[in-house]
Amino acid sequence: MRKNIVAGNWKMNCDLSETDYLISRLMEQKLDPSVQVIVTPPFTNLHHTYHLLKSMPIGVAAQNMHQEEGGAYTGEVSAKMLKSIGVETVILGHSERRAYFGEDNALLAKKVTTALTEGMTVIFCFGEELQERKEGRHFDVVKQQLKEGLFHIAEGDWSRLVLAYEPVWAIGTGETASPDQAQEMHHFIRETIAEAYNADISENVSILYGGSVKPNNAAEIFGKPDVDGGLIGGASLKADDFAAIVNAFH
Ligand code: PEP
Repeated sequence: MRKNIVAGNWKMNCDLSETDYLISRLMEQKLDPSVQVIVTPPFTNLHHTYHLLKSMPIGVAAQNMHQEEGGAYTGEVSAKMLKSIGVETVILGHSERRAYFGEDNALLAKKVTTALTEGMTVIFCFGEELQERKEGRHFDVVKQQLKEGLFHIAEGDWSRLVLAYEPVWAIGTGETASPDQAQEMHHFIRETIAEAYNADISENVSILYGGSVKPNNAAEIFGKPDVDGGLIGGASLKADDFAAIVNAFH
């Protein structure tokens, strides 16, 4: 069964005291209990945040992980390490990882396999760049990202996958895809999954929209039938705004 999910991507923001402040403000908010709420602090604050939120209905996820199980990979963090501190969900394929850290579909396919093999849940991000949309190639690009990054996984693993469609031109720019543009792409994503797998899998996977979602546009975007929530960057750093987005489902 697909769920409504709102995940906050904190990116490289919030040191320890800022994390304490944001979490304490989040704990004061009234959040729609039917929505699965997730926050993703940087690695240094994952363990701390996990303990702060242990008794709250707010999950904690990582923003990235390495594709290997362990070994000589200086500066990297494995799935096993995340699980050892209680973190069982990871974002993979964020456009900033793709653009600044050279993560391509082939590498992401490996990361997805490792995370799923380790029993983790993956929030898999993908989406076209502005030029690709202008050239009318956005559907092809998205199809390719899904095919090369995800379509190797077994049917049974789809229950531990959440998709996040994030048009790159809408991330951190203040420019949002219109609710109709989001719906059109989410519908296409479901069709593509149904073709590659089956209708059951495509109907049951949650597909989040990401890209400048704010309290004033969340309800309209989340109101679309194939949009199951959002991956929220900037607005997840303000507890009031994040709560308003969580509470934006009709
Ligand atoms: C993101 O980083 O995934 C994102 C959607 O950022 P923003 O909400 O700031 O556009």
